[in-house]
Amino acid sequence: MAEKKKKIVKTIKVDVDKCNGCRACEVACSAFHSAPKYSGNNPARSRIRVIREPLRDIYIPVYAGEYASAECMGRDKYVIDGKEYEECAFCRASCPSRDIFKEPDSGLPLKCDMCQDDPTLEKPLCVQWCLADALTYEEREEEVEEDVKLEDVEIGLESMIDKYGWEKVMDTVSRISASKKG
Ligand code: SF4
Ligand code: SF4
Repeated sequence: MAEKKKKIVKTIKVDVDKCNGCRACEVACSAFHSAPKYSGNNPARSRIRVIREPLRDIYIPVYAGEYASAECMGRDKYVIDGKEYEECAFCRASCPSRDIFKEPDSGLPLKCDMCQDDPTLEKPLCVQWCLADALTYEEREEEVEEDVKLEDVEIGLESMIDKYGWEKVMDTVSRISASKKG
């Protein structure tokens, strides 16, 4: 049986009614994650993306979540306060059916890391830069089951294998490894 332990769970509450679609959150996130830090910004590399439909006054900030190797069957529509939303609009997955939450050069999945830094930021950057107060940072203590989490490198490898096939990835790894040793 999995052991339980206390953990601080960090979340960001999104108020879609307050979001005006300015995309400052995307700029701040991509700048924070550029290398070296703050050396550039490109919303395509952001771990938060704003689903925008200005003509229908729809702006939904969505955080990148887990990598999904296959697209799901979700094609439902939701009507909230008279506005119709596609099910995908709220989904956080980096999945094959859309372009968001993928590193544009490598195609590797992107995931929100709550702006992990040393020292820890008081609030994640997207929250700090959202002047419309659509994003609120919250922390709570929860009892969670200890599970074995895949490391980022494993998630990246899995997505490369899905994209290029096992043999091609292994060939490339062997070639790089041989050139590093030589
Ligand atoms: S910064 Fe705030 S208001 Fe602007 S797009 Fe992002 S969530 Fe919406
Ligand atoms: S919390 Fe940090 S990593 Fe996550 S979306 Fe916001 S700026 Fe990006």
